[in-house]
Amino acid sequence: MAQVNMRDMLYHAYQNNYAVGAFDLVSLDFLEAVIDAAERCRAPVILSVAEPHFAHYDFELMLPAVEAAAKRASVPVAIQLDHGHSLESATRAINLGCNGIMLDASNRSLPENIQLTRTVVDMAHGCGVPVIGELGYVAGIEGEGAEQHPGESAFTVPAEAKVYVERTGVDCLAVSIGTVQGRMKGRAKLDFQRLKQLNQAVNIPLVIHGGSGLNEDQFRRLTSLGVAKINYFTALSDVAAKTMSAQIKQNPNGSFTELKAGVKEAIREEVERCLRLWGSAGRAAEVLTQCEPWTPIEHLIIYNVEQISDQQTQAMMDEGRKVLSTIPGVRGVFTGEAVKEKSKFRFCWLVRFCHKAVIDTYREHPDHIAFANKLFRQVANDRISIDYQDSQNTSPAILVNNKKIKLHPS
Ligand SMILES: [Zn+2]
Repeated sequence: MAQVNMRDMLYHAYQNNYAVGAFDLVSLDFLEAVIDAAERCRAPVILSVAEPHFAHYDFELMLPAVEAAAKRASVPVAIQLDHGHSLESATRAINLGCNGIMLDASNRSLPENIQLTRTVVDMAHGCGVPVIGELGYVAGIEGEGAEQHPGESAFTVPAEAKVYVERTGVDCLAVSIGTVQGRMKGRAKLDFQRLKQLNQAVNIPLVIHGGSGLNEDQFRRLTSLGVAKINYFTALSDVAAKTMSAQIKQNPNGSFTELKAGVKEAIREEVERCLRLWGSAGRAAEVLTQCEPWTPIEHLIIYNVEQISDQQTQAMMDEGRKVLSTIPGVRGVFTGEAVKEKSKFRFCWLVRFCHKAVIDTYREHPDHIAFANKLFRQVANDRISIDYQDSQNTSPAILVNNKKIKLHPS
């Protein structure tokens, strides 16, 4: 499992003056290409799923594939929800496997932005998940021409940023200093003086959206002034589309798979170029050693029931699955009955938490308390409850001669 804590990953970049790439995925071609590129240049990487793109694919089907890719990867990976718009979508993303949330309430007033962001931060931190907030407004829509969405950009004001970060508790901040989302004519003029002031004011990793189209020198200055994460999609979408257009011209009657031949390679080359340019290439080993591995917890309860019928037991389990699985940080709820009739404990709950922080927040969550008190505890006095962590994945660093040695994750 090469999924790591995204907060650790971004702080490593921040402290070492490079930026991690966060690439929005809109199909398996993008997913495979991004992982392939990161592995080729040994870079940490963020696999990003953007809420505005959910119209193009089924998020619930995409995330298991993203998670499987992260698990198989030999480089450190984080999975983020990009441009999440609500507490509900952030919670759903965490419960489906995201371990980073970018919350975008930047189109609201400052007090409203602070309020919504604070709510999401409280929920996400209870799950061990970091949050990236956005202040100031980066106009445009990823993947589309900037001139189609000419909204006014609003640059981030350092004094407001300081207040926003203090009040919300965000782990990183996306700022607006002159980039736009999507394709633009000519080159963006970036306000580096403002970026410098922002970095001094908030002193946490900064994030740039709308990285497509910037030049090498601009990227270098960004990473030297606190930018630890760059969101990048439009240029990938463009190379993919260009590759397909060329195929269509050459082979107008080609099959779907013939027409998309070369798309993955084109995306991979562009991602690799970025990872080298932003300084994240070659950093995989350090990041793996220094970042917390992202491992789930299995919350196990084995129990017997008294005073209720089998039918009532079944109804209680049905209700529990429904109620408990929506608690933030719960990846899944399994209810089971022993296969052998004479087992010491006849029933079980197996609740998977995304992170050990959820052990406490789950216990204190009002839905859990209500269910446990009203339906469960009084009929299940005979029970054992234990939280387990994956023994393969809990100690990434072992001590050899008092030096931390990293076990290569499989
Ligand atoms: Zn964006």
